[in-house]
Amino acid sequence: MIKKAFKLVAVLFLMQLFISAGFAPNYSNCKGEANAGGEKSHLIKDGKGLKMDEKVAKSDEEWKKVLTAEQFEVARKKGTEPPFSGKYNNFKEKGVFLCVCCGNELFGSETKYDSGSGWPSFMDELSQGAVRLHADNSHGMVRVEVLCGRCDAHLGHVFDDGPPPLGKRFCINSLSLKFDKRD
Ligand code: FE
Repeated sequence: MIKKAFKLVAVLFLMQLFISAGFAPNYSNCKGEANAGGEKSHLIKDGKGLKMDEKVAKSDEEWKKVLTAEQFEVARKKGTEPPFSGKYNNFKEKGVFLCVCCGNELFGSETKYDSGSGWPSFMDELSQGAVRLHADNSHGMVRVEVLCGRCDAHLGHVFDDGPPPLGKRFCINSLSLKFDKRD
């Protein structure tokens, strides 16, 4: 009980510090350097009326309301779905792959290819800034993490063993994606 009260006082003190220092509270859940450098960020209750170039930040509790447990684990907690398990691994329809969290347009089906890795693989992002890259040194490996450019959802990793001309392989979890069929 005393411990809880102490925690609460500490949290209130920190919030006061932030506010008095002129910083708006940052509710982004992504580990690491989300919003580093004070880039624009908005706390929202839902996606209504939000422009696609605006950042999305929600608490874990808010994300849990709109994601399945598996989607939450991968997209918000940087999990990885087992290889060959995802619904988009062998998926060949024409359209756009969207962020499962915020609906941001991430990858076009015309850049999807079969890498044999067991995860949906793309040669490039749909448009510049659709995704954000971040050095990932976890699990004893040096990799480049791919995040949604809008809500910082964990999507997967990008490797340099893709097909020409770009030579990139965006290795993406199906659980971080949803699909919008287009002709
Ligand atoms: Fe997103």
